[in-house]
Amino acid sequence: MRILLVEDERKVASFVARSLRENTYAVDIATTGEQALEMAASANYDAILLDVRLPGLSGVEVCRELRASRIETPILMLTARSLVEQRVEGLDAGADDYLVKPFALAELQARVRALIRRGLNRREGTLRYADLEIDRRRRQVKRNSLTVPLTAKEFALLELLVLRAPEIVTRSEIEEHVWDAGFDRESNLVEVYINRLRQKIDHGSLPKLIHTVRGAGYRLGAPQ
Ligand code: CA
Repeated sequence: MRILLVEDERKVASFVARSLRENTYAVDIATTGEQALEMAASANYDAILLDVRLPGLSGVEVCRELRASRIETPILMLTARSLVEQRVEGLDAGADDYLVKPFALAELQARVRALIRRGLNRREGTLRYADLEIDRRRRQVKRNSLTVPLTAKEFALLELLVLRAPEIVTRSEIEEHVWDAGFDRESNLVEVYINRLRQKIDHGSLPKLIHTVRGAGYRLGAPQ
C-alpha cells in the first residue's frame, strides 16, 4: 500500500511518515499542492493524506483539482483547527474524511486503515487466478484452498502480478507500485522478493505460476 503525504511542515511530515512506514506502508512526501498534483498524476496511490494549510494551492484546492481530473484515491484532510467551515469545505471538495491537528498517531493509523478499506471496497475485494485466491480486505492469500502467509511487501507484489496476469509486469512497474520514491534502484530487492514469493506460492504446487521473462520482467500465469 502506497501513501502520498502532502505536508509543508518538515517535522510533522517526517514524524507522520515514520509512523506510517513502521506500519509497512510505502510513503512519498509532497511539500506543496502543486507537487502533490504532479505526484498523484504520475503514480497510483492507495490513499492521500492532505494538509489543508499549504503555501500556494491550499489543500482544499488540491482536493478539488484531483477529483476534477478523475483521481478517485481516498483522501484524508488534515485540518489545523476544528473549524466547521473548513471541514465542510474539504468534504465538499471530495475528501473522504478529515482529522483535526494535533492528532494522536494511533488515531491517524486507524483513519488510514479505514480509508484504505474504503478504497478497496470501491475496487474488487477478492482476486482469483488459477487456484490462487487473494482477499484484499483481510490481506489473506490462499493457494488450492490452503492459506499462504505473506509479509506486507510480498502481498503487495503478488497483488500487482495477479491484477496484471497473464501480462508481463516490468521491474520498474514493480518498484513504483510496491516501493516508495526513495527505493534504491541499484538494489536487487525486486529479485529477492520475487524469489521469496516463488518459494511460498509455487513450492510444492503445480503448475508453477510465477515466471521470469528474461530482459522484460515477471509474469504470473500458466507456463508458455
Ligand atoms: Ca501546513
